Amino acid sequence: MTPSPVFNLSGKKVWVAGHRGMVGGALVRRLAEEGCDLVTVGRDQVDLVRQSAVEAWLASEKPDCIFLAAAKVGGIQANNTRPAEFLYENMMIEANIIHAAHQVGVKKLVFLGSTCIYPKMAPQPIPEHALLTGPLEPTNEWYAIAKIAGIKLCQAYRRQYGCDFIAAQPTNLYGPGDNYDLESSHVLPALLRKAHEAKLSGAAELVVWGSGSPRREFLHVDDLADAVVHLAKVYSDEEHVNVGSGSEITIKELAELVCATVGFQGSLRFDVSKPDGTPRKLSDVSKLHSLGWNQARPLQVGLTQTYQSAFG
Ligand code: GDP
Repeated sequence: MTPSPVFNLSGKKVWVAGHRGMVGGALVRRLAEEGCDLVTVGRDQVDLVRQSAVEAWLASEKPDCIFLAAAKVGGIQANNTRPAEFLYENMMIEANIIHAAHQVGVKKLVFLGSTCIYPKMAPQPIPEHALLTGPLEPTNEWYAIAKIAGIKLCQAYRRQYGCDFIAAQPTNLYGPGDNYDLESSHVLPALLRKAHEAKLSGAAELVVWGSGSPRREFLHVDDLADAVVHLAKVYSDEEHVNVGSGSEITIKELAELVCATVGFQGSLRFDVSKPDGTPRKLSDVSKLHSLGWNQARPLQVGLTQTYQSAFG
């Protein structure tokens, strides 16, 4: 049963912070269906790291609702080599927006986190209550600590001031606006690009990093946006909510699916000099399902759409 709505977006002034990013862009597309008055602002006008700039923007705009998708993001290499930037900028963005949202009386705020907030050795699938039960994966702890602070800010402002601020934790995302740079991208866009180029060049094989045995969960960013908008409407509580597809696939299976989607008929070669990373990272989505959202498109469908829009 779908819970009755606690927040109606129709006619509301809604700010998507981070609208130029992959998640923010998907939220803008999805919110266009909600009949709200959507506002966005570029970094050239408001630097979200500067408290005075954020306060002035929110005091002048006074939105009813904020989707906080702005963040400094990057892959394992960037996170590992620029820890100060990842920790400082993400903490500042969240603290500035959440505090100023409270000051101007924002009625609903949805903070977007990441599954890297969970302990490295969390049980699988990872339930929300695994947060802060063990050490983090060291390569992304800077980003993770900042994201955990964002969740805690939402909880603290709810407890102390009664603010309706909630947090959602997306799994690995793919889709429009993704990064296809082979050095810094995640696996799904990397394999799509590699398979496409291998097909065009008539290559005999495609190189997959690692052993192919790690398992990952993938969610199309438009499904994430749909789930997050749903949560904005129906959810109002302290605990964050995992947002994922609930199913996982090995990297080898993913590579095979990508090759079939792209039409590359060569063979796969596994480069075991590259790291496997975490063996498994699957979110427990039972809470999301109990809140009435279970719409993740099958990976095959999302892959085909993504391939056609990126390379078609
Ligand atoms: P993670 O989910 O944080 O580990 O990040 P990635 O999406 O970058 O990598 C997931 C898994 O895919 C790892 O086991 C990688 O070694 C593997 N993988 C296989 N081929 C590639 C590739 O071409 N690029 C990337 N980024 N990962 C790959």
